[in-house]
Parts: sequence; C-alpha cells; structure tokens
Amino acid sequence: MTAYTKDQDQLFRFLFDNTPIRGNTVRLHQTFNNALQHESYPPVLRAALGELMAAAALLAATLKLDNGALILQIQGKGPLNLLVVECSASLQMRATAKWKGELEDLSFVELVGNGHFVITLDPKDGGQTYQGIVPVEGDSISEVLQNYMQRSEQIETRIWLACDQSSASGMLLQKLPDLPEQDADAWARTGFLAETLTPEELISLPAETILTRLFHEEDVRLFEPRQISFHCSCSRKNVSNMLKMLGQEEVASIIQERGEIEVNCDFCNAAYVFDPVDAEQLFAADVTPPTSKSKH
Ligand SMILES: [Zn+2]
Repeated sequence: MTAYTKDQDQLFRFLFDNTPIRGNTVRLHQTFNNALQHESYPPVLRAALGELMAAAALLAATLKLDNGALILQIQGKGPLNLLVVECSASLQMRATAKWKGELEDLSFVELVGNGHFVITLDPKDGGQTYQGIVPVEGDSISEVLQNYMQRSEQIETRIWLACDQSSASGMLLQKLPDLPEQDADAWARTGFLAETLTPEELISLPAETILTRLFHEEDVRLFEPRQISFHCSCSRKNVSNMLKMLGQEEVASIIQERGEIEVNCDFCNAAYVFDPVDAEQLFAADVTPPTSKSKH
C-alpha cells in the first residue's frame, strides 16, 4: 500500500468486472493551485473552477484524444461570463474565468443565469474540431455534465464533484452502451452506492479507500494511476499568429497609439510584448505566396 499525500495529483481508472460499468476518480491539489495562482478568484468561482477541472480530467480520461485536448466552457449570462478548463490527452491542465462585480455566496444558477455549456474536442493537429453547445441545464456543474452526456452523447454518466478551495476531487461512473449487460441491476446498484459518498469523503479519502468503502461487495478492478499537472500551452508563436490575423493595419495603429503591443495570456498571465520592429517583422516574414506549400 502506497502512502497517501494530498500533493498527489492522480487519476485512477477502475471497472466493475462482468458489467458494462467503468469509472474514474481524480484528485487535484498542486494542479489546481498552480492553475489558479495567476488571478485572485472569489471563493465561489474558485470552487466552480475546481469542480470543472476535476470534471474535465474525468471526462478526458474516457475519451480517445490522441494528442488533442478537451475544453469545457460554461458561458454565463449572470455575474459569471466564462469558465474555461482545458485538459490535454496527457492530462496537462489549465483554467481561467471571467466575471463582473462582487461575487458573494451565489448559487451556481445565480452565477450562470441562462448560460451555455460548451464542450470542444480539439485534435490540435489541424484536423476537425468537434464542438457541442447546449443550454446550461442543472443546479450544479456535475448535473450540467450528466445531462449533457445523457442527452447529447447518449452515454449514461454519473459525476460527483467537490472542491474545498485548496483541492478538487471527482468521481465518474459510466455505463458503456455497446457491452452486453450480464448483470442487469449493476448500473442502478453502483449509482446508489456511490450516492452515499459525502463531498468531505470525496475530498479527503484516497481513491482506494473510497472504492473499498463504497463497493466492497463488488468486483472492482483498479488500474495504475495517471499523473496530472498544470501546463499552459500559450506561446509567442500563437500570439504572433493572432496578431497576423488582426492584420497589418490594425497592428500598426495599436503600435502608433501605444508604442508597443502587450498581450497577456488569460490562463497563465504570461506577457508577450511586440515593439515596432517585432510588429513589422510579423508581416515582413510572409514573403512566400500561401499556395507554394501545397505543391508537394
Ligand atoms: Zn499561458
């Protein structure tokens, strides 16, 4: 048995033998704190971001992402404008939020208003991006995700999430639609057992303990954990491309007005500065006609 420390950011995959049910648990401590250290978020937003981060890791681990990334967004029409969490295939994560005004103890529904939930699978190789957009339906992030998975993806999914300001945890159960069901009662039974887990237990107990406590009469197979970490994929090259999209005229007019262009990453707050010479080079570099690379 390995010693448990709160610093281990891990995702455990498990399945119930002889049933079509699989699951994941996740705990984020360092990843959560590293991702949120660039901004001082109100506690209610910190909790929401923590839960969305845990949910993104749980879902990302159920998908075939290759080298791509899963991006979950809640676009709000209340005091919350946007929550964004990105999780790569290798479980590197980043997160950010936009909001206005003072946020007191608002409920999730008060925070979001009539918002939208957006799920994006970005292959990151220039291939087809998949995006699903649905109205936010549910009183919590876990309900919104469960409803989305059930209604849009037709995959029975239960998600439990918890965040105590310094860590975020989650558990997911999923019923695979294609597998024959030898044990007709298993989905209802495991869901019922999982429902007895309290948010405090989800936050504080190691994955092995949670699974033993909930499912000691089931045949649970637990796999080796995967590590999760914070990483921001922003780069000067991406910012350069964004400025090129703005166009030479627009870039020149900002330079004229401010002397330089500074772009800050929303996720990690890294600053990318372009002085007049840098700005000119952005467009001077485009000397080859855009059709030339498709010839071979
Ligand atoms: Zn960044």
